[in-house]
Amino acid sequence: MNQSEPPTCPKCSHPMDEGTIGESEGIHYASNRQTGFLKVMTPARWARACMTCGYIELYLDPRELRQKIGM
Ligand SMILES: [Zn+2]
Repeated sequence: MNQSEPPTCPKCSHPMDEGTIGESEGIHYASNRQTGFLKVMTPARWARACMTCGYIELYLDPRELRQKIGM
């Protein structure tokens, strides 16, 4: 994760605030590539929120995602 430059919103290009998503707050991700039994990802590790438009960007563990969808 590159944190050397202040993050800007991919939607409106204004500065974003950085934070985390709590592990017990129920935000999960399930890939559309998953078939059959629905496997749910662990919650996002950290997040950014745009201070202008409110867009939220979430990150999860990409290794875990690749593992789950077999790539
Ligand atoms: Zn924005």
